[in-house]
Amino acid sequence: MFIDSHCHINFNCMIQHLTDVLERMRVNAVTHALCVSVDLETFPSVLEIAHAYPHIFASVGVHPGHEHARDPDVKELVSIAQDPKVVAIGETGLDYHSFKGRPVTSLEWQRKRFRTHIQAAVVSGKPLIIHMRSSAQDTLRIMREEGASAVGGVMHCFAETWNIAEAALAQNFFISISGIVTFKNAIQLQEIARKVPLERLLIETDSPYLAPVPHRGKLNEPAYLSHIGRFIALLRNIDAAHLGLATSDNFFRLFCKTGSLSPCNSVLNRI
Ligand SMILES: [Zn+2]
Repeated sequence: MFIDSHCHINFNCMIQHLTDVLERMRVNAVTHALCVSVDLETFPSVLEIAHAYPHIFASVGVHPGHEHARDPDVKELVSIAQDPKVVAIGETGLDYHSFKGRPVTSLEWQRKRFRTHIQAAVVSGKPLIIHMRSSAQDTLRIMREEGASAVGGVMHCFAETWNIAEAALAQNFFISISGIVTFKNAIQLQEIARKVPLERLLIETDSPYLAPVPHRGKLNEPAYLSHIGRFIALLRNIDAAHLGLATSDNFFRLFCKTGSLSPCNSVLNRI
């Protein structure tokens, strides 16, 4: 069993085929998925899926790359996060890569938006989903300044150095590895996937992006998480089942605070 800690199955290209996407997920033993919000305009579709399917969870947040999306305030995020199926705040963070060519000083709106999300996470007690691209030093600094370690969370689609992974682990964050790890030239990420303590590791597809080998270049979907899980298990020289159980347990510990394999029972019972 594997759990997809980050996907976007509410995107148009996926929601049109949602029944098939969920069926292939089941067949490939991907038991649960977290459908991650990228802006408030499309958040209702994230929540709708999470309410319709017990094994799909939701987050609320505005992606750092969506410059023209409406900015939430702390109160609004906290209020939305009270929904029992909303298990995290994000995705949020800093993405300087998407704005390269622009001076970093002109991206203050991103840093302000990021601080708002961390403050909302701290108030609501829900963990953060952090997107960090070409921005590691500022991301880690703002996490520290806003006290993100109080709620923790996940560095999603991690693709930085081991030193940066260690700095995130020290701030009470999990490291989530995507299908990039299966790419031939991803030597540094493969090393990180080997070294992250098993109890702090998550796996994700980030679908519809970043399909793993052997589907590289095609539309990604949660079912393909099994390729990522098996690849990382091989790297770590453990059974795929062992990796699946450990990362699933991590998922529930982080997002449902159950610390066991009961799939967010306390959450589901309240719906
Ligand atoms: Zn994402």
